[in-house]
Amino acid sequence: MPAPTAPETDGPPGPRFVHDALPGRIVFGAGRAQRDLSAEVERLGGARVLVLTTARERRAVEALTAALGERVAARFNDVRPHVPVEVATQARALAATHRVDLLLAVGGGSAVGTAKAVALTTGLPILAVPTTYAGSEVTPIWGLTEDGRKTTGRDEVVLPRTVIYDAALTTTLPATLSAVSGLNAVAHAIEAFWAPGRTPVADALAETSIRSLARGLPGVVADGADLGARGQALLGAWLAAASFAVAGSGLHHKICHVLGGAFDLPHAQTHAIVLPHVLALNAPYVPGASDRIAGALGAEDAVTGLGALARALGAPDALRDVGLEQTRIDEVLDDVVALAPSDNPAPVDRDTVRALILAAWAGPPG
Ligand code: NAD
Repeated sequence: MPAPTAPETDGPPGPRFVHDALPGRIVFGAGRAQRDLSAEVERLGGARVLVLTTARERRAVEALTAALGERVAARFNDVRPHVPVEVATQARALAATHRVDLLLAVGGGSAVGTAKAVALTTGLPILAVPTTYAGSEVTPIWGLTEDGRKTTGRDEVVLPRTVIYDAALTTTLPATLSAVSGLNAVAHAIEAFWAPGRTPVADALAETSIRSLARGLPGVVADGADLGARGQALLGAWLAAASFAVAGSGLHHKICHVLGGAFDLPHAQTHAIVLPHVLALNAPYVPGASDRIAGALGAEDAVTGLGALARALGAPDALRDVGLEQTRIDEVLDDVVALAPSDNPAPVDRDTVRALILAAWAGPPG
């Protein structure tokens, strides 16, 4: 599947874009995973299911999937962050040995990513039950890590056929992880305003998603068991990822991808820290988008509003606090410049990228 098509910037006036709508069934509501899982498995024809999750979530997932009985052909509880190639190989072998016909991923982006790695080579359908705000469950993007380098690609075969969003499954996500995962979702939405495949549908989804995340996340961090706040945040996470799935990666995602791969930085934390800097860089060049982002955040100004949200959530705000060494920043500049979309609102060169990463290393925008 090719990358999103960039809107034309020359030619006659008026809106011009290509919007590639993505398929997928969304079942949304607290308590629905427990209630509807068997029916949704059946709907996809799952008779021999491979359940994928992390060791940390194993018990909760066993309880959730108990009702599937003998339909569970095998369980893979060794999901690891960033889908190492050897983990994908183990999961594929398990799927082959047990002749599975459906992949059921329960967990964050890593569990869904592992199922995608299996689907990529087998074509098996995926039913995803996300438990974070990462959003991988509604994108056709897969990722695999080998020798410290993360490779990603787009292929509709990895797009989950059905997603069950159940806020009750997210109440165990600790406040700190909820905060950074939520800001990871905000990053999907904000970048949808300027990423290469932006369309009026993607930015409408993005605007609604920012409003929902800004409303839900403070309540989530204050009380992790607040199902109303959890539901708002999860709704925002879905819409954010849906906008990202269409618009594709912009400068922010490219920077985080390169930094994460090169220095093994934590995914959601890196997004939470870098986003305010990319927004500060681009906002002056896209005043219309900036006003819409500010409005959705309930603020006068987008950059100030995002900073206030991140502070309210107690999110980390400096790359030096998540393991980046200042002396190594220059190592990634060429990779970021090479990957930066040519139509990023602000001009991007080596000096701009160095200044941005250095500022993100030191703390929030001044
Ligand atoms: P993750 O899946 O690695 O989960 C982080 C930790 O949270 C894990 O230890 C997990 O066991 C735990 N966890 C998850 N849900 C929990 C819950 N409800 N309660 C308690 N603990 C819970 O991290 P993530 O941020 O969800 O996903 C990050 C990964 O997803 C990265 O590899 C990233 O590249 C990928 N991703 C891919 C896409 C895409 O479109 N392909 C989009 C976003 C993220």
